[in-house]
Amino acid sequence: MLLTISTTHIPATDLGYLLHKHPDRLQCFPMAFGQASVFYPEASAERCTAALLLDVDPIGLVRGKSKSDDRPIEQYVNDRPYVASSFLSVALAKVFRTALSGHCKDRPELAETAIPLTVKLSVLPCRGGEKFLRQMFEPLGYQVTAKPLILDEQFPEWGASPYFAVELQNTMRLADLLSHLYVLIPVLDDDKHYWVGDDEIDKLLRHGEGWLNSHPARQQIADRYLKRQRRLTRLAVAQLAEEDHTDSEKVEVSRALEEEVLEQRISLNEQRLEAVMTVLKASGAQRVVDLGCGEGKLLRLLLAESALAKPSQRIAQITGVDVSFRALEIAKERLQVDRFSPAQQSRLQLIQSSLIYRDSRLTDFDAAAVIEVIEHLDLERLAAFERVLFEFIRPKIAIVTTPNIEYNVRFENLQAGKFRHRDHRFEWTRNEFQTWANKVGEGFGFGVEFRSVGSEDLEVGSPTQMAIFTR
Ligand code: SAH
Repeated sequence: MLLTISTTHIPATDLGYLLHKHPDRLQCFPMAFGQASVFYPEASAERCTAALLLDVDPIGLVRGKSKSDDRPIEQYVNDRPYVASSFLSVALAKVFRTALSGHCKDRPELAETAIPLTVKLSVLPCRGGEKFLRQMFEPLGYQVTAKPLILDEQFPEWGASPYFAVELQNTMRLADLLSHLYVLIPVLDDDKHYWVGDDEIDKLLRHGEGWLNSHPARQQIADRYLKRQRRLTRLAVAQLAEEDHTDSEKVEVSRALEEEVLEQRISLNEQRLEAVMTVLKASGAQRVVDLGCGEGKLLRLLLAESALAKPSQRIAQITGVDVSFRALEIAKERLQVDRFSPAQQSRLQLIQSSLIYRDSRLTDFDAAAVIEVIEHLDLERLAAFERVLFEFIRPKIAIVTTPNIEYNVRFENLQAGKFRHRDHRFEWTRNEFQTWANKVGEGFGFGVEFRSVGSEDLEVGSPTQMAIFTR
């Protein structure tokens, strides 16, 4: 299997800097499944081509594996050594790791520059045909040339194959090109040679950053990339959708700050967390889940509380759940998880999951906190979340807080008619919230008590409203 990358950027030999591979040398990299080699068939100032040759060893792949009885020959004789597949993606990530990350020590500005690039893939399996191939690359601005490869020239009656010789042209950053190839090659092949688990979502989102979210075929890409495991695809797409609403989570984080600034005068955030902690402590809960934990402010208080408590009264399990990978990364960083003792580490768990789907990891909790989260869910998804919380997780106590929209008129910096945060799908009056909470409590067999959080205004109530559900 051969992949070549060419440029006519002048001087073209700068490609060697970008790829961190010297044009004069042949370099070999042992892989778990064979060997990858990099060399330059041409390297002049006008045009430079780097080639990645992948040798997949089909015998080595089978060695040590249990024998497959139904297709004994196929495990030795197959297309894997000859086609671009997930083996190539793994090789790209290993051999061109720095280039893929967009770094270049010697030519940092070049790594940031769009340069003319041409990629040739000798054999690319395209399940879904040329149309699907074009649907993958054309929205990203590539000029695509595809030559179908027939199965065997001597037997034209055998017909077409899923294989194409493909050429892709674009002017872009090399790192972007490598990310596109890394994700889309296994998508086109519709297969992976390794087990696909939760960490594959992170890989997809990391390498899809900046382009996957706006790709018209993002659902299909996620679906195939995650080997059609519905739970994983849903999670990935939910996160992409989150980004969609906010453009990017970086913006999300700064908007969260805006909301904080808006509410700062009364340090509402702190009062809210304090109110939640008071209820949690009084409940004596030992296993607490913070649903939509964001950057982990409540988790921090829970950890501090559990560190201070006597062992017998200690909160034994603190779990934070959020759909946003970035929010969880920030939480990890802020909580300084790696500095914890092993005992503390075992107490804390961070789970990436969407609250509108059941997740088997979320069972056996005494208490659930859902702080300023429901207003981020689409109204039509709220019923799904209610079932997850009250029927599936079914804690003894659940604390839900949400803004009281009536109070918004008291925020001087908030334009009339605007929500407190651009990602809020709704904000409720006291009456709307209480009607919802009473209906839900009744439906799922929970009693409900309401509290106000923050300074109470005679006319419009308090800025935050809280419902405590118990059973
Ligand atoms: N509870 C935190 C964060 C509130 S912001 C605090 O009080 O500081 C809302 C959080 O809900 C965000 O972190 C967002 O990523 C998360 N969220 C939104 N929709 C979600 C969903 N469907 N599943 C899980 N988390 C979600």
